Order: sequence, then C-alpha cells, then structure tokens
Amino acid sequence: MSRSPSPPPSRSHARASRPPLPAEARAAGVRPAAELPGAAEPPVQVVVRGLVAGLEVEVRGQVPAARLAELVAALAAQGLEPPPRDWARTADGAPICPRHRVPMRQREKQGDQWYSHRIRTPDGTELYCRGYPGPDSPGYDVP
Ligand SMILES: [Zn+2]
Repeated sequence: MSRSPSPPPSRSHARASRPPLPAEARAAGVRPAAELPGAAEPPVQVVVRGLVAGLEVEVRGQVPAARLAELVAALAAQGLEPPPRDWARTADGAPICPRHRVPMRQREKQGDQWYSHRIRTPDGTELYCRGYPGPDSPGYDVP
C-alpha cells in the first residue's frame, strides 16, 4: 500500500479570491457566502475531541453561529457521539440509562466501546438506546 502526500491546502475558499457571481446565478437565487444568514455574525470557535478507532483526535475550527446546529447534526450523522456523562450506576458499576432507568451493558465493535440497552417499541420492534438521543440511539425516543 503506497501513501500519497496530502495535497497542499486549497486557497479557493478565501473570500477575497472569489470571482463575483454571474448575473444569471443571482437571478436564480444563488447568493455569495458572505450574504448567507449568519455570515455577518462572529464565528463560534469549535473544538471536537474524540476517539477514532482508538486514536485520540482533536479538530479545531470555526463556524458561523447560525450554522452551529447544522454542524452538530452533520457530526451526529457521521456517527460521532457525545462523551460519556456522569452516569448514575448500579452497585456493580453498570451505567443506568437516565431516560428508562435500566442498567446498560458495555458493547464493543471495531475498537469502539459504548453502553446501551435494548428496548421494545409498542409494536414489538427491538431498538437500542445509548442513554442519550441521536441517530445511533433510536431506542431513546421510546417512552
Ligand atoms: Zn434508555
């Protein structure tokens, strides 16, 4: 397996180097990034830390405040999840789901570890709940 060097950082996103939008693009409703909602607000500093395949990774950046929720949703869609909370635990140390009040079991797959429990929907479908809402925790929404 050969490794190719990373491409040099692209400067194509620098605002000053952007050509003006053609008139037909404006007529179609396309607006420059500087005119998007939230573009005039000061950006929010974002630091995302986590384990990726067991490696500790930290990514820093900034995002317009109005787009923070969009970024969080995009991270969740990539399978990134919140860090473990200060869970209530059973006597033998198992974290307790704060929503369903049941002990969760540790799961492990491809170097990732998490806690979850199974729960059935009213129609009998079995889902997993990780003790917080998210796309990887569909059982959380089961009452
Ligand atoms: Zn739960």
